[in-house]
Amino acid sequence: MQRSFKVFLSICLIWLGVCLWGLQASARTVAIALDPGHGGEEEGAMYYGLLEKDLNLKMAKFLKEELSRYPEAEVMLTREEDEQVPLYERARRASEGGADILISLHFNASVSHQSKGASVYITTAEAYRENLRHFADYLLGEFEAVGLDNAGTFARVTQMGGRRGDGSFDDYYGVIRHAVNYGMPAMIIEHCYMDAEADKPFFASEEGLRKLAKADANGIAAYYGLQAADGTAVTPKTAKKYGATTKALENGYYEAPEITGLRLLQYDGMTMGKARFQVSVEDGVGVTSIYLVYKHRETGASAEFSLILPESLTTGTYELEAYIPPYLELGKYDLSYIGAYNASGYDAGYNYAGGSMVGFGKCDWLNSFSYGQEADLTVTKKGTLADLHLDKIIRRLAADMESGLGRGQSLNLAPAGRK
Ligand SMILES: [Zn+2]
Repeated sequence: MQRSFKVFLSICLIWLGVCLWGLQASARTVAIALDPGHGGEEEGAMYYGLLEKDLNLKMAKFLKEELSRYPEAEVMLTREEDEQVPLYERARRASEGGADILISLHFNASVSHQSKGASVYITTAEAYRENLRHFADYLLGEFEAVGLDNAGTFARVTQMGGRRGDGSFDDYYGVIRHAVNYGMPAMIIEHCYMDAEADKPFFASEEGLRKLAKADANGIAAYYGLQAADGTAVTPKTAKKYGATTKALENGYYEAPEITGLRLLQYDGMTMGKARFQVSVEDGVGVTSIYLVYKHRETGASAEFSLILPESLTTGTYELEAYIPPYLELGKYDLSYIGAYNASGYDAGYNYAGGSMVGFGKCDWLNSFSYGQEADLTVTKKGTLADLHLDKIIRRLAADMESGLGRGQSLNLAPAGRK
């Protein structure tokens, strides 16, 4: 009797132990979905004979290997091979796998070929933004430590005007938007620029990719406080400069830029010409980039171009120029969207809707912006250029378009000056 009681007690204790261990393990484990960007026919950027989709998949596998050192990290991939996966499907797979977060892995390229370094795009959703900002800061700190430029943390709003139930604007990037709809925080890591000579050592060799994977793993381990199997932990490296990270925090400022007015001052109706705009800005740390999206009134074709900012713009009214691209069709164009970044890394999007613009300046998401039709364009003739400098710039843009740089990937709209 006594013996069987002892056996019973032992079984209970073992059972209790298993339960507690399970509880503890499940409380500490973090499930991470790594999303290798692009795949299949959607190749992403291509430079030096390397396809971004391949680099992204390699990165995901190296990163999974790095994270295997941490027993508390459970890692899944949204694609394991060269497969074309729709963005919503990536989010669905992550959600089905019980992921706590989706991290999309990418490499960047810019139209101007002037950008370099690492950047992180986080969701615009208020519920996750603060935490992800810190997460991005740890990642960028790691990238700085291996010698990459810190190009900043960004949150980018949709150009389509879609909103969530709480009235806030959707994310521009589909994979982030879909993940948030599944109740998951999400971010995109743009590790470095495939068209930047300075970044080549990081993406053009396995050694470089492994260095980046290690940096990712360190940032992830630092953020979640993971401990490696050998008992070691990563001390967080916060980014030294820039972004929605250190600089903005030091200034106590991390709000979206606010464009309060936009007016077309001068434009001769010629493609390959220049337009002059008057722009009113309200911003504490300085707007670093403004871009405009126009829609052709009849065909609906959209055209996008950046205003030239000689320096970052704080509160005031400015006259700014924009180069009108050579590929515009003749006809009338309505301004449909204004986008802007400031030095704290947030994007404000202003969609033209029902005669007024709405955006998320001051982070209340619902600022109205007086617009009228004051900044619409009418293109009346195909132009030729006398201005040699302008000609050079446009030639380069045309060459980029021919090389298919824009195909299936997001364009980096930040100006050359944002480093
Ligand atoms: Zn990409």
